[in-house]
Amino acid sequence: MPIFDADLQELDRLRPPDEARRIIEGRLPRLSTERVPLLDAVGRILARDIVAPADHPPFPASTMDGFAVVAADPSPWREIIGSQPAGSMIETEVHDGEAIRIMTGAPIPAGADAVVPVESTSPAEDHVVIHQEDVRPGANIRPVGSDLRRGDLVLPAGSRLQPPHIGLIASLGIADIEVARKPRISIIATGDEVIDPGTQLEPGQIYDANRFSLATAVIDAGAEISWIGLAPDNREHLQSLIEQRMETDDIILTSGGVSMGDMDYIKAILFESPDVTVHFRKLYMKPGKPLNFATQGDTLIFGLPGNPVSSLVTFELFLRPAIGIMSGATEPDRPRVRVELTVPTTPSDRIEYQRGRVVVTNDGRLHASSTGAQQSSRLASFVGANALLVIPPRDRSYAAGEMVDALLLETPIPTSS
Ligand code: AMP
Ligand code: MG
Repeated sequence: MPIFDADLQELDRLRPPDEARRIIEGRLPRLSTERVPLLDAVGRILARDIVAPADHPPFPASTMDGFAVVAADPSPWREIIGSQPAGSMIETEVHDGEAIRIMTGAPIPAGADAVVPVESTSPAEDHVVIHQEDVRPGANIRPVGSDLRRGDLVLPAGSRLQPPHIGLIASLGIADIEVARKPRISIIATGDEVIDPGTQLEPGQIYDANRFSLATAVIDAGAEISWIGLAPDNREHLQSLIEQRMETDDIILTSGGVSMGDMDYIKAILFESPDVTVHFRKLYMKPGKPLNFATQGDTLIFGLPGNPVSSLVTFELFLRPAIGIMSGATEPDRPRVRVELTVPTTPSDRIEYQRGRVVVTNDGRLHASSTGAQQSSRLASFVGANALLVIPPRDRSYAAGEMVDALLLETPIPTSS
C-alpha cells in the first residue's frame, strides 16, 4: 500500500468516471464458462460463436396454404392429384394440368415450382381453377437455406441472449449452449442505524434500502448473489466478514462506511489490509464521490457510498458494465444517446448524473427533464427516471434546448404527450 504523501494524494485524487472505468476494466478477470439448456440461457452471454450446422430451412417450403403447381403451365384448370401436409413428404410428382393441395410449412412436391394461394383459386373436390394471370416460378416458396446457409455465423460470442436469439438457436437444432458463468457477488449493507424492513423502527433508525436495490440490480445485471446481509458498524466484524467473502466471491459490494465519519470503517479496512490493493477512493462525480475500488487477487471489492441513490448510480456506472465485461459481453453498457434539455439546469462542481426522464417528441427528438430534487438520499426521484443525464461542470448554467449525454436505463423510450 502507498505510504508516501504523494501516493496518498494520488490515491485520493478526484478521478473522472472515465478514468475510474478504465482502472476497473484493467482489473477484471474473465469468467469461466458453463453449458446450460436453452431455457436457462435468457440474459446470459454467449461464450462461443454459433455457426449454422445446416441450411435453414432444410427443404423448400410453402409459405401459404394453396396449391403446388408447375408455374409455366398456362391452363387455369388443374386436376388435384394429392395433398401435401406439413411434417411429411408425399411421393407424388406434379405435372402440367395437375396440382397438389399444400399447407404452410409443407415441403414442395417434386415437379412443382410454385404455390398458388387458396385465395387466388376456386377449388372443387377433384380440380381447382386458378384465377391468377401469371404464376411466377418460385412464388410462395421459401428456398432451402434462404434464412441461413450452413456455416453462416449466426450469433457471435459475446451476444446477450434474448428471446429471438434463443428461438433462433433452437431452430438450428441446438439444445444447450456455452455461456459465461454468472459472477458470484456478496452484498454487505453497513450501518448501526440501518434495520430490516418489516420490523419496528426505534428513534434514529432507518430501513435498509440498499441491500434490496443492489440485490435486485445484481440479478438484473446477470450476476448471482452468493451472500447478502446487514452488518453493524463494528470494525472487527466487518473485517472478518469481508475476509470470509473474499474466499468464494468474485465481487464484494459493501454499502456505507466510506465517508469521513468516525464509524466509517470500510475505507480503513480496505486501505489497511495487507493483501488488498486500493485503486481509488474518490471520484469526480455526483453522486458517488466516495466510491472505493480495491482488489485482492481476482476478487473485486467495491465500497459503495451509503446514500441509496449514490450506491445505485455507482452500480449502474461501474458494476453493471464490469459484470458484462467479465462475462465477455460485446455490449456491456447501457445505450448512451444525446438528448435535449427541456429546462435550464445548474451544473455542480463535479460531473453530475441526474435522474431524468427521456421522451421521444412527435418529430423524433429526444427530450429530457429532471425527475425532481436530486439529493443522493432521495430514491423517489429514481423512480420514474428512465435515464441518467450527464451534466458536466462548467461556469454557466445549461439553457433549455442544450444537448447533453444520457445513459438510457430503460427502453423503449416513451413518446411525449
Ligand atoms: P454512510 O456512507 O455510511 O455515512 O451513509 C450515508 C448515508 O446513507 C447515511 O445517511 C446513512 O444512514 C444512509 N444509508 C447507509 N446505508 C443505507 C442503507 N442500506 N439503506 C438506506 N440508507 C442507508
Ligand atoms: Mg454508515
